[in-house]
Amino acid sequence: MKKWTELEPGTVILEAGSSVRFKTGSWRSFRPRWVPENCIQCLMCWLYCPDMAVKVADGKVAGFDYDYCKGCGVCAKECPGKQGKKAIVMEAEGK
Ligand code: SF4
Ligand code: SF4
Repeated sequence: MKKWTELEPGTVILEAGSSVRFKTGSWRSFRPRWVPENCIQCLMCWLYCPDMAVKVADGKVAGFDYDYCKGCGVCAKECPGKQGKKAIVMEAEGK
């Protein structure tokens, strides 16, 4: 049996940028749906998303990268929407 000092270190990320290979979207049980007509392009969803899964093109929200979106719902919570109507709605995965 190995001594603890001989064990390989765990939970240490040795390679920069390795999260690209870790597709957190496979965890998801809810997914955000963007409602463009209620979007005021404030980019709060992009700012708050912990996985950089809000896609932006030409400075505007353009949907979600579902390979990395884990369905946490932070974007939907922070979205101010327009006139009380959210521009991001969380729906059950597979709906
Ligand atoms: S549900 Fe979570 S991970 Fe997915 S886009 Fe919104 S904030 Fe990002
Ligand atoms: S937070 Fe809501 S209103 Fe703001 S850019 Fe994102 S989807 Fe649009």
